[in-house]
Amino acid sequence: MHEPYRPGRGLSAVNWPTTLFLIISPLAGIAGTAWWAMSGHFNGATLALFFATWAATAMGITGGYHRLFSHRAYTAKGPLRVLLMLCGGAAWEGSCLEWSRDHRRHHKYVDTDHDPYNIGQGFWWAHVLWLVYNRKEAVDPAEVPDLWADPLMRFEHRFYPWIATVTSFFIPIAVCAAWGDPWGGLFVASTLRIVANHHSTFLINSLSHIAGSQPYSDSHSARDNWFTALLTFGEGYHNYHHEFASDYRNGVRAYQWDPTKWLIWSCSVLGMATDLKRVAAEKVAAKRLEMLEKRLAEKLARRRVPLSVRAEAALEQARGQVHQALNHAARLRKEQHRILAQLRQNASAELTRALAELKEKLKQAERDLASTLAAWQVAAQGAGRAIA
Ligand SMILES: [Zn+2]
Ligand SMILES: [Zn+2]
Repeated sequence: MHEPYRPGRGLSAVNWPTTLFLIISPLAGIAGTAWWAMSGHFNGATLALFFATWAATAMGITGGYHRLFSHRAYTAKGPLRVLLMLCGGAAWEGSCLEWSRDHRRHHKYVDTDHDPYNIGQGFWWAHVLWLVYNRKEAVDPAEVPDLWADPLMRFEHRFYPWIATVTSFFIPIAVCAAWGDPWGGLFVASTLRIVANHHSTFLINSLSHIAGSQPYSDSHSARDNWFTALLTFGEGYHNYHHEFASDYRNGVRAYQWDPTKWLIWSCSVLGMATDLKRVAAEKVAAKRLEMLEKRLAEKLARRRVPLSVRAEAALEQARGQVHQALNHAARLRKEQHRILAQLRQNASAELTRALAELKEKLKQAERDLASTLAAWQVAAQGAGRAIA
């Protein structure tokens, strides 16, 4: 077991290279960008490159470092793995081996002293101070054996500062120099962009463990927060993510802002990504119902008034319908696994047709789950009014 994470004592406990980077980069990025904008150097193409490199680097972290390498939520073909590793490397958030080691610890020991960015130590600790006191432990191959076995990961770990320097400074400066704006390349597309990547990622560890909703579980501090999702290309649905970390989606609902899931899905359409892991809708709905029922029970307990017989009956009926829909979806899912296993043994047109029919039935079952959950919520609101 690793040492607990706590603020060190005195200046000697400070990790100075990281700390100086974290202090100088915002100062240089903001002051340099202000000078660039006001001294006649402003260039629209450089500004566009700032946003493009912010997005590419963020996706390298979310789609690469996080969902692909740390959680193995899908499998990527070689070129995509390399691209995501290079883009993630441009964030100056450490090698993927270190990042994943810390992130896996975060999930495993969340909200304890063994969680590197434990929110229990406050917003600023989770946001950035844990890095100030980062003891830079060497990566133990036994802790991340799957990643250590990957030569690409070991290569990136070994040459990390070089890779990060080339991807985050040399390339943007060279591109901007091509249109006559190397200073914009340095201050805007490199330095300010690194700061934007840093603090948007950091907000997931800080704000997404403090502010937002907990639709799936309150056994940990993680919260769904649309604002951080907006800044981090989908990572803000953090309550869902902590509950179902193997899912390649964080924003599980179709309308939720999760460009990373759209990117991964698009890569799967192009044949670059396979084995996209999705948690079954009935498992997600069961957790949702559990939390909704818990909230209602707490509300009723606070008011200390029993429910009317009518409201109780309406709730019971709605609950029965949700359970019926859950069981139906679970039966279909089992059947789907059975057909898939048969198909792997011997493919036939009949089995393929049966699978296609089952997929349609599952889609309908998922719609039924959503509508029965919505009906339960209407009944719960009615019950709330009945005791108001
Ligand atoms: Zn978290
Ligand atoms: Zn995670």
